[in-house]
Amino acid sequence: MELALSSPLTALPGVGPSRAEQLQQKGLATVEDLLYYLPFRYEDRIHFTPVGELRPGMKTCVAAEVMTAGLVRFRGRGRRGVFHLAASDKTGILYAKWFYGDYLARVFRPGQRVVLYGKVEEDPHRPGQLQMIQPQHEVLSARGAAADSTESGRIVPIYEAAGPVSSRVFRRLVHYALEHLPRTMPDPLPASLRAQHGFAPRRAARQQAHFPPADANLELLEAFRTLAQQRLIYEEFFFLELGLALRRQRARQARGIAFALNDNIRQAIKKILPFHPTAAQKRVLKEIAGDMQQPFPMNRLLQGDVGSGKTIVAFEAAIIAMENGYQVALMAPTEILAEQHYLSAVQRFAQTPYRIGLLVSGLPAKEKKQTRSDLENGDLDLLVGTHALLEKEVAFHRLGFIIVDEQHRFGVMQRLELIRKAQGANARPDVLVMTATPIPRTLALTLYSDLEMSLLNELPPGRTAIKTRWVTDERSAGVWEFVRKQVSAGRQAYIVYPVIDESKQELKAATKEYERLSKNVFDRLRLGLLHGRLRREEKAQVMDAFRRGTTQILVATSVVEVGVDVPNATVMVIEHAERFGLAQLHQLRGRIGRGRHASHCILMTPANVGDVARERLDTMTQTQDGFKIAELDLKLRGPGEFLGTRQHGFVSFRIANLLRDQELLSAAKNDAFEFVAARPPEFDATVEYLRRSWQRRYQLADVA
Ligand code: ADP
Ligand code: MG
Repeated sequence: MELALSSPLTALPGVGPSRAEQLQQKGLATVEDLLYYLPFRYEDRIHFTPVGELRPGMKTCVAAEVMTAGLVRFRGRGRRGVFHLAASDKTGILYAKWFYGDYLARVFRPGQRVVLYGKVEEDPHRPGQLQMIQPQHEVLSARGAAADSTESGRIVPIYEAAGPVSSRVFRRLVHYALEHLPRTMPDPLPASLRAQHGFAPRRAARQQAHFPPADANLELLEAFRTLAQQRLIYEEFFFLELGLALRRQRARQARGIAFALNDNIRQAIKKILPFHPTAAQKRVLKEIAGDMQQPFPMNRLLQGDVGSGKTIVAFEAAIIAMENGYQVALMAPTEILAEQHYLSAVQRFAQTPYRIGLLVSGLPAKEKKQTRSDLENGDLDLLVGTHALLEKEVAFHRLGFIIVDEQHRFGVMQRLELIRKAQGANARPDVLVMTATPIPRTLALTLYSDLEMSLLNELPPGRTAIKTRWVTDERSAGVWEFVRKQVSAGRQAYIVYPVIDESKQELKAATKEYERLSKNVFDRLRLGLLHGRLRREEKAQVMDAFRRGTTQILVATSVVEVGVDVPNATVMVIEHAERFGLAQLHQLRGRIGRGRHASHCILMTPANVGDVARERLDTMTQTQDGFKIAELDLKLRGPGEFLGTRQHGFVSFRIANLLRDQELLSAAKNDAFEFVAARPPEFDATVEYLRRSWQRRYQLADVA
């Protein structure tokens, strides 16, 4: 019986219900899934080394005949023991040992020909005697290696075991599947692109990625750089990018709002500016305004480092919409940030006729209700809020412009939900997505390829570089002394802790330290305490007091991470800095260095910190460039962690690796976008395949 890619794994010999269950644990259900399970390593088991030529330290393959084989039991440990084997070829004797090797008693017999693969070492107790510990092994049939042996006589693929399913079992299953799939199968990747990159058809690529030809280059293989592997990686990227290209195209075909931009509106924008915009801010506003005038909806990403002045640009754009008689929604990921945006909007728009509202779930029900009805009646021009904006009851009168300050916490789907709120306006609103910290290029390419990009690559003038130091706890007296000096010079300071209350992990906690610092350390200064469990009004009061300078030192948790903007604050002390991620540290540091005065960030840790934490802290002291920090953060944490578990729009790849395969990603992106623009003859079939096979995985429900 022939297999199909969609066959369940139980169609393979040796896979019953329990093994199928074990494979399912790894997400492997079909033959196709199995073929996506590529080896992570390969071993050359073609070139056998004669035993006489073995040297300690070699990693190699030996073919020899078993002389003796048997279990040597540990004293007093029941049946457990070390399995010993001695094998020879004409040139010498090699020993092998396996711990807990009881089961091998059923495998090896004297006189058998076996292949052993492993690292050669000298037996520490018997000088001159060479051995392999736990080598990979295969017993050859009497006639020598069978032609299609998966274990030797070839470059052997090594798979990550899936529970009890060993690499060896994977080799057998994959081999069987490849042998029994139809010889010819349609290749979803357009032939023109295959030709352009020199890629083999998919079937051949799979064959070679699992069982490489004897002359394959082992180094390229292990780096996933052979054409066969590249073809499979490229394919994953290509179909994602194709989906994003289609999404972008589709959005451009939708009916949008062609906002008018005239001198009156330009004047209205100028009026809210308390300073001269930077050249970058001007350029970016021009890009945004240009899009807003188009008859199709804008989908734009505004990236900029912490403190580059994204907020004001967003407000300027909002004015264009409001002056055109449309409502604006600004959605932020946390209540504190929403509140911050709300307050700065109220302040910024104080001299304007725009009516501004706030909607977060912490508000009293009555207030929320009032806000909702104002919104629906068109008595609000700008509504700032959190996820609460997405709730069913929220209806806009005439939504025309959406700003998502997402800090990559909102997914594509949530963006779309908000867009749907604008249905009454019979045209799709414009969308501006802002990120709180820079996103590494590779991630931006997978998350935001369907968006146009604007980059604020310049900080407002007069910023002085922040001095960052890392000190250990025993020097805290000096740190407090420094804080005292800064405060007596008129500045303000943040002191941040990783947790609110004392915990079992013996971390210093904000509430406890607030009391201690107030009493013992800064007894003559005014301190405030801010954390996520305070009620909304309490938070607002605390922030307000700090903003006005009434409190001089703000003791807080990482709730002050984003959005807080107090230019007079020049000191950021972070206790237990080893507990914070890079992006968080960078954000926290971004709270200072916002005014004329020199700023100082002090990272405090216990004397001993782990290696990864050390790397983060060193990075912080060495650079202030958010783009560099983001790249390193991605390397240290990987894409999933980097984005946080709350990211919904993110895709996981089966073979591709964003860090390793950046170049292929760029190529696939360009190819996919050109493909959509050019619409070659294969277009329809390719899109049809995308819809059938990738849509769900890549959450592209809205494109095809
Ligand atoms: P971001 O949101 O990009 O981190 P903000 O929008 O909060 O940055 O701006 C940071 C600070 O810089 C704010 O205090 C803001 O008022 C100020 N600012 C923004 N643009 C300028 C400018 N062109 N000149 C001077 N100050 C600016
Ligand atoms: Mg901001």
